[in-house]
Amino acid sequence: MAEPVVAYIGLGANLGDPRGAVLSAMQAIADLDGVVITRKSSLYGSAPVDAGGGDYVNAVVEVQTWLTPHDLLARLHDIEQVAGRARPYRNAPRTLDLDILLFGERTLDDGQLTVPHPRMWQRAFVLRPLAEIAPALVTQDQLQAVADQPIWAL
Ligand code: ADP
Ligand code: MG
Repeated sequence: MAEPVVAYIGLGANLGDPRGAVLSAMQAIADLDGVVITRKSSLYGSAPVDAGGGDYVNAVVEVQTWLTPHDLLARLHDIEQVAGRARPYRNAPRTLDLDILLFGERTLDDGQLTVPHPRMWQRAFVLRPLAEIAPALVTQDQLQAVADQPIWAL
């Protein structure tokens, strides 16, 4: 890819040291070849939605990337693995979850990767940090629709 694409990555963790996991993941993303972090949200706490375990630490980063969407996903999975992520069952508590929220203007749905992330508009822990760093991408109505979900600044 000659021109970089602006993408948004959601970070979440709720096991072990979730704050440390999210901060280390930001550093690991910054260290990837072909990825530059251009904005970082602050850290948020959120109660688990459809998932067990303790409260989450969440954040969103904006990147410029020269990777393809699938290569970026593979690198994010590598970072999850290093953080000790196991997937014993769907929506299990996780040491680290990295999701591609948006990848430029691309829409993709091939079984491995769905972009925009299909559940992002239902999740305050995505929309609030995304609105912090990219306010033009989130409407007041979208924020209002998730206003009942507990989320707080850390
Ligand atoms: P979730 O993030 O939905 O809680 P997982 O992190 O376990 O669940 O992801 C399961 C699979 O979802 C991943 O292996 C990946 O292939 C797929 N997936 C589909 N779309 C995306 C996306 N936009 N970002 C990250 N993973 C995705
Ligand atoms: Mg995920």
